[in-house]
Amino acid sequence: MTVLVLGGAGYIGSHMVDRLVDQGSDVAVVDNLVKGHRAAVRPEARFYKGDVRDKDFMRSVFRQEDIEAVVHFAAFSIVPESMQQPLDYFDNNTAGLISVLEVMNEFNVKRIVFSSTAATYGTPERVPIKETDKQEPINPYGESKLMMEKIMHWSDLAYGIKFVALRYFNVAGAKADGSIGEDHGPETHLVPIVLQVANGQRDKLKIFGSDYDTPDGTNVRDYVHVVDLADAHILALKYLAAGNDSNAFNLGSATGFSNRQILEAARKATGKEIPAEDAPRRPGDPDTLIADSSKARKVLGWKPQYDDIEKIIATAWKWHSTHPNGYNDK
Ligand code: NAD
Ligand code: UDP
Repeated sequence: MTVLVLGGAGYIGSHMVDRLVDQGSDVAVVDNLVKGHRAAVRPEARFYKGDVRDKDFMRSVFRQEDIEAVVHFAAFSIVPESMQQPLDYFDNNTAGLISVLEVMNEFNVKRIVFSSTAATYGTPERVPIKETDKQEPINPYGESKLMMEKIMHWSDLAYGIKFVALRYFNVAGAKADGSIGEDHGPETHLVPIVLQVANGQRDKLKIFGSDYDTPDGTNVRDYVHVVDLADAHILALKYLAAGNDSNAFNLGSATGFSNRQILEAARKATGKEIPAEDAPRRPGDPDTLIADSSKARKVLGWKPQYDDIEKIIATAWKWHSTHPNGYNDK
């Protein structure tokens, strides 16, 4: 039986495929390569280039493969872009999921693990955030993902498709050997941008906002290593295979780091000076986002291996310093 990874050529998806292959799973990947990279996908996985919204294409994949479960990463995920082009987000993310579920139902595939996000919580009432806290997104990206969670809930009731929604906080790092890593185009995330400055590919880091209601005035975020994140998906697949009910879990480290602390950690991890300056706030950034991930630890048995931000950044640096142009395929 095969695990089908949608968006498996992307940053998180490629680490998931890597872990699955290492664990001896049979893996197939669907990706339209709009954002992802063919070279990021382990050769042991069968690769199908196409769009998850194309149902005929998806049907052909489901006909060729004996699929036991789907892991769904295929989505757009840039918050400011979603503010400018909300319909693209509802089309690719939300409508994309509807196609996936329709085809899963046609082929009687009843388990899906999916990337949700801290952005579904909007501006939190309290931190650390628990899964039961209110979800009121403040941007179309978060809304598109919350809609996906709700669609899955009703599809479970109607068709018995069981799901696990994993609400990631800030994902960072790369496989420890530096062979795969983060290569988003355009890059918007803090850690890779800081490392591009360390690499001399950008002049300086702009720290967006220094007057937030946080200890040093910059935003506080909760970072989780991409390999720990992939392992949580493997546990979620096992959880569903054991016949458990649909569920949602936060994935973070439960420790917050300010943007200035990330800069300092990156200076230590790279040994580089990394020039930085304060810049205006970026719209839509809540002061602090920290996960309460105790439910994932308790129910899924998740034990993240990385609890040190400097070590997380060091793995990302191994990738960035050896692949300054990423996969160099765009
Ligand atoms: P990514 O852009 O690197 O990966 C997404 C992959 O999906 C890409 O390879 C892209 O080509 C593919 N894709 C997109 N739309 C598709 C479609 N319609 N059909 C087929 N393939 C399609 O992004 P990522 O950082 O790896 O994120 C993966 C998932 O995790 C996304 O759903 C994102 O919303 C979610 N997420 C990411 C973070 C983060 O910090 N990176 C945080 C929270 C949630
Ligand atoms: N950030 C920044 N400069 C940059 C990129 C990001 O100061 O060049 C800040 C951003 O405003 C936020 C934090 O870094 O406070 C994390 O942003 P990222 O986009 O990495 O993740 P998000 O929290 O939006 O998911």
